[in-house]
Amino acid sequence: MPHASLHTIGCRLNQAETALLGDQLRSRGYDLVELGRPADLVVLNTCSVTDNAEAECRHLIRKIRRASPDAFVAVTGCYAQTGADVLQQMEGIDLIVGTQYKMELPRYLTSLERRPAPEILHTRTVSRDDFTIEGVGDYESTRAHLKVQDGCNFMCSFCIIPFSRGHERSRRPDDIIREAEGLVARGHRELVVTGVNVGRYACEGRSIDDVIGMLEDVPGLDRIRISSIEPTTISDQLLERMAGPSKLCRYLHIPLQSGDDGVLDAMNRRYTSKAYAAFIEKAVRTVPDLGLGTDIMVGFPGETDRAFANTRGLAADLPFSYFHVFSYSPRPGTAALKLPDAIPAGTITARREELCALSRAKRLAFYHRRVGQTVSVLFETRNQSGLFTGLTDNYIRVGVPAGSDLHNQLRPVRLTGAMDGLALGAAVDAFPLHTIGA
Ligand code: SF4
Repeated sequence: MPHASLHTIGCRLNQAETALLGDQLRSRGYDLVELGRPADLVVLNTCSVTDNAEAECRHLIRKIRRASPDAFVAVTGCYAQTGADVLQQMEGIDLIVGTQYKMELPRYLTSLERRPAPEILHTRTVSRDDFTIEGVGDYESTRAHLKVQDGCNFMCSFCIIPFSRGHERSRRPDDIIREAEGLVARGHRELVVTGVNVGRYACEGRSIDDVIGMLEDVPGLDRIRISSIEPTTISDQLLERMAGPSKLCRYLHIPLQSGDDGVLDAMNRRYTSKAYAAFIEKAVRTVPDLGLGTDIMVGFPGETDRAFANTRGLAADLPFSYFHVFSYSPRPGTAALKLPDAIPAGTITARREELCALSRAKRLAFYHRRVGQTVSVLFETRNQSGLFTGLTDNYIRVGVPAGSDLHNQLRPVRLTGAMDGLALGAAVDAFPLHTIGA
């Protein structure tokens, strides 16, 4: 059996796709091995969302080539789509597979003979057709990602994703359910619904809320989590479903990017800070104990001190339980690349650190407010301090002392304390009556 190793750089969607490619290779007789172990084939799923991500891809390709001089190296993913011209100049790549052919990559592995120069499977544009995907994602993790949508038409001025992944398109509902049932059969109790612009799902007359409704009926599935979703694409039905008795986790990750209207306009985002805040207030009013995350970008061209203060102010005021902070990274082909008033690197670093500290403080406060509650935790693994950790549905990372193996168990836990990044608790036998999210 030929040995294959796969590696992913980038987002949950990339991870979902690598897991599917792994399963496709396994069904073609490949034995999957960890990266770094001797392999006949190495597949790298790349990212081009920032220039750092691209640099990391190039670094890894060189490292893979040094470690496996005879392996057939296939590079796919967003950087293979947007940076094929750069990648084909690099030593050691045998196959470059753009977005159009990505999810059928194993079909093109007719031979694992090393090539003098990379073969390139690439189209400038990507089909807009709804799609199906072969296989059931192959995960080691407790939670599995479920790809339901791809591409984006929103064209935010800083974003390269519409260029790397093409126009929005949706996965056929029956194919989503087929994979979901396969993942549950493999023991996954929580599925993370993922895509590029998930809220824009539209296929066979169904919306994302309809798809989640179908997933609710999958026997043996305990939790459904939406990975990230744009503020202008969240329906009232989805909020009501999340608030009601449902498998849908009380969790929303809703990118804000900036709290300043001038910057939001220059980013070509589709809301004002006021509209965003109003939506968040509605979401929190509708869904009790909602776990709320966001993405914030610092250093966008023209982001004055005043503009940053507006962002920091809104981030502090809104009931976020954490945020991811990104530094603006000029991307080829994007509208923002032409904008004046670049922000000095030192200022960007200072702003990012300030918001990261604020995010930690808000997360700790969110955890502290729940001390004394009994929550439901899906346990994953032991951390370095020997505590067994897992997540609540509203995205609290919880750690408990445990003599036995709690892997993949859903257990009630009484929260007793909190520290940076971890709520502490003790596993209990049962929930007190009327426990939310039990
Ligand atoms: S919504 Fe904007 S930031 Fe998100 S993928 Fe689409 S273009 Fe990029």
